[in-house]
Amino acid sequence: MSEKITKGGFALLVILLLASCSTEKERLYKKSTILMDTIVTITVSSESKEKAESAIDSAFGKLKEMEGLINFWSPESEISAINRASGKEKVKVSSITLDMIEKALYVSRTTDGAFDATIGPIIRLYDFKKNKRPSDSTLKEKLTLTGFRKNVVVDKNKSTVYLRKKGMSFDTGGIAKGYAADVAVDVLKRKGIKGGIVAVSGDIKTFGLKPDGLPWLVGIKNPRPKAKDDEIMATLELQDAGISTSGDYERFFMEDGIRYHHIINPVTGLPASGCQSVSVVSKEGALSDGFSTGIFVMGPEKGMRLLNELGFEGIIVDTQGKIYITEGIKDKVKWKGL
Ligand code: AMP
Ligand code: MG
Repeated sequence: MSEKITKGGFALLVILLLASCSTEKERLYKKSTILMDTIVTITVSSESKEKAESAIDSAFGKLKEMEGLINFWSPESEISAINRASGKEKVKVSSITLDMIEKALYVSRTTDGAFDATIGPIIRLYDFKKNKRPSDSTLKEKLTLTGFRKNVVVDKNKSTVYLRKKGMSFDTGGIAKGYAADVAVDVLKRKGIKGGIVAVSGDIKTFGLKPDGLPWLVGIKNPRPKAKDDEIMATLELQDAGISTSGDYERFFMEDGIRYHHIINPVTGLPASGCQSVSVVSKEGALSDGFSTGIFVMGPEKGMRLLNELGFEGIIVDTQGKIYITEGIKDKVKWKGL
């Protein structure tokens, strides 16, 4: 009897040792590159450098391919082809472009138009590097060319998209980076990677665990840092989830004390007021990205209500600096300095 127990105990010990050996062999590998006009960083947990590098390079390759499809600033992309054909004809597109447009339209409907996938004509009137903004009359004129509800025709079976009014255009800037993070994670998983983190600028998707078996830690920027060591306001533990932050500090200029930034209220065509930053956590990077932009426009109260309805988590900082946080992540957040 006692012999049996000893043997059993030994076997268990060996298994535990093997398990810890195999996790100990996993290490972090990280690579960055410029893609989709921004920095893309991929970190993976892997037992071999070769496997990690080959998986990361495949993910970069897929993102490069996607860039040619969904980047609305590039004239060669499918999104630009749809925009050019507005008011004229439908355009056949790849399944990736179609899928991303459908997700953008879902976010547009769910935010009741606070996110508007067809906000392109308004976005092009601003230049945040040259401090340029449109006149009221130009805004009024161009607002007639926005609106996802009536003037977008998607034929899923034929994989075609048509914008009914000439001069209409999709803007994918509020969702494409999160969508790209999802696609990159799929590639890494198919290549046998069990845990990693993909950051397409501030749009982040994590999967699995770190080599030490703990969740990934993601920093959330302070929208109004007062000093260098004040740039991150909190860290958040994430496992198999994406987080995106939309902030009025990313692209903006000041004029007469007013902050003109890149997240636009589709009703007025003016920068949205109500928030300094919105972070959304969900299973899909595309949805975290789209909803962080849309909820920024909705403002803190409506935004928190929508997060709860969707079962998503999030942190909102309003214009006064007041912080709102959903129940489900309260115990996963560490506030800096607290
Ligand atoms: P993000 O940083 O993800 O919030 O995305 C901001 C980008 O989304 C902007 O640079 C625009 O390209 C686009 N955008 C701005 N306002 C809206 C809006 N109300 N609906 C959809 N896209 C928007
Ligand atoms: Mg976004």
